[in-house]
Amino acid sequence: MSSLTPAQQQRLHKLGIQREFDLILHLPLRYEDETHLYPIADAPMGSPVLVEGEVLSCEVNYKPRKQLNARVKDASGSLVVRLMNFYPSQVQQLAVGKRVRLYGDLRHGYFGTEMVHPKVRVGGEVSLQEALSPIYPTTAGLSQAQLATWIGKALANTPMPDTLSDAILAPLQLPDFASSVRLLHAPTPDTPKILLTARTHPAWQRLKFDELLAQQLSLRLARAVRREKTAPKINPDGRLGAQLIANLPFDLTAAQKRVLLEITQDLAQAHPMQRLLQGDVGAGKTIVAAVAACHAIEAGFQVAMLAPTEILAEQHFQKLSAWLTPLGVNVVWLTGSLKAKAKREAIAAASDGSAQLLVGTHAIFQASVAFQNLGLAIVDEQHRFGVQQRLALREKGQSPHQLMMSATPIPRTLAMSFYADLDVSVIDELPPGRTPIITKLISDARRDEVIERIAAKVLEGRQVYWVCPLIEESETLQLQTAVDTHAQLSEELEGIAVGLLHGKMKPEEKAATMAAFSRNEIQVLIATTVIEVGVDVPNASLMVIEHAERMGLSQLHQLRGRVGRGAHASLCILLYTTPLSETAKARLKVIFEHTDGFEIARQDLHIRGPGDMAGIKQSGVPMLRFADLETDADLLELARDSAETILQHHVNLAQPHLDRWLPGREALLKV
Ligand code: ADP
Ligand code: MG
Repeated sequence: MSSLTPAQQQRLHKLGIQREFDLILHLPLRYEDETHLYPIADAPMGSPVLVEGEVLSCEVNYKPRKQLNARVKDASGSLVVRLMNFYPSQVQQLAVGKRVRLYGDLRHGYFGTEMVHPKVRVGGEVSLQEALSPIYPTTAGLSQAQLATWIGKALANTPMPDTLSDAILAPLQLPDFASSVRLLHAPTPDTPKILLTARTHPAWQRLKFDELLAQQLSLRLARAVRREKTAPKINPDGRLGAQLIANLPFDLTAAQKRVLLEITQDLAQAHPMQRLLQGDVGAGKTIVAAVAACHAIEAGFQVAMLAPTEILAEQHFQKLSAWLTPLGVNVVWLTGSLKAKAKREAIAAASDGSAQLLVGTHAIFQASVAFQNLGLAIVDEQHRFGVQQRLALREKGQSPHQLMMSATPIPRTLAMSFYADLDVSVIDELPPGRTPIITKLISDARRDEVIERIAAKVLEGRQVYWVCPLIEESETLQLQTAVDTHAQLSEELEGIAVGLLHGKMKPEEKAATMAAFSRNEIQVLIATTVIEVGVDVPNASLMVIEHAERMGLSQLHQLRGRVGRGAHASLCILLYTTPLSETAKARLKVIFEHTDGFEIARQDLHIRGPGDMAGIKQSGVPMLRFADLETDADLLELARDSAETILQHHVNLAQPHLDRWLPGREALLKV
């Protein structure tokens, strides 16, 4: 690498190539087969072939537009070469009487068999390629030939010992590393091309396996480091939690009981819990968190509960105070918008230990907030928080136990890879008595009908959410739309109380509006996407989402989950505006067809790819270049098992493998 100019190195950096070894791991996108010369008459149509012949004629036509037509003939037949754009040098190359070698797709054209824009080279005595020619991903200013030369040198000069022993490889039946990369850079002509393009060839499998294994190893090491930290053992009688449960107007579902047991067992350990509590929208995660909080409080520790928005924090505060204050627990509220004095008091209560449960937003993270003895931190809607914020929270206690909650389910393969350092508990059943939500897709040309339906619902005694469109480019415009919609619907729905809720309102105003909606003093609530998370009004049974095509799948699913919380049949109307992009169509189809959050998340992964999934880019977990979580799920499982075996029985193999695949990632292991 050191022999390259700075400009060349910079171009390689753009491709993610920093070291000699990265050249070896820069694998072809596809191949061209110039190992076999076909007679023109026998060459198959539709896929690229190599033929050779003599130029019989060559003319440049100007009508209907500029075009070069040349006829090339071999012993078996002839074809026409057509070029729409060409240089004078190409006219020379195709001069009558020259022998040329052509590589391209054969097809039936107006003048018989033809090749449009083939690769044209000098023919004759030139020998054929011995291997398929790799086509690499490249960048401006870097030719295939240049890249191929450097990669060839790296392959010849760099030792490529296998990082894995036979004991690991043999049962997996994967080939060795060196022969796998050599094959992928220069496959012999008999290599089945379909296996190469589909990336299912054993050599590809080996590379993908190695990549997944590196990811698994790094995650497991990070987890081992965490396990060495000590956390308070929380092991109370459970009396407080039992009392809370006894006071509830409902019984916990079997799933809620099961996850509570998992959490309780974790809390009793001397190392910090890192548990993700997953449950679809409305599954009842809050009560589980509240019981876990009771355990910590009963054992004499403080608990922090964090929500991504003020509205949600406020709702949690209301709910948790109502549940816990009667049990003698001091619940304190802390958000950024509190008045200075109230904030000072909340902060003081955190630091002198009198706040047993502190509920709030990010304000809790401020440096000024120090807990006396934080034992448990609960983060609601964890996908909304970045890794940095989670780490900041961890630093508040020595290493408190952490419970993260999310309604955005993580598909299995993602859970095994990007979230593999977390333990996961799943609430996989909804409380009884919920009615399924019916979803309708309606063009916004039929808005009037929708408004009639709203009036009818309100007459039945139900309440309605109207979600205004997300306008990412302009917050002002988004606000304006909400205000306009409010004015318009207030007029159209005479005699019905229409409220407005948006992100720019003062927290007290927001809280007052939400409270009025909860008490059914407002029947129709116009809202921006601020209601996306956590809001809970069981009597609301109709939701209208405007410009649903602009929203992401998990957002639509979260929004829709605001209805269907009570015993009434619920309806979600997705208003869309045409024309719809292909992605928007695909998304709307998914949300229309599915109500199961897991299935929706899986489809979302399929439509967007994992890089886009909430939180993954900043998660600090290495991204995948070769392996595909959807198609390589089986390899991922093998990699997971092998990582386990390596760390238990062959731990000396781990570091060399990580050095090869994830150089410079020691930092991750220290997190
Ligand atoms: P989410 O999992 O989306 O955070 P919540 O915790 O807000 O859901 O619960 C949704 C609603 O279901 C709340 O009104 C809650 O009191 C209620 N709930 C929770 N568990 C049960 C249960 N086992 N039986 C009946 N209702 C329940
Ligand atoms: Mg919730």
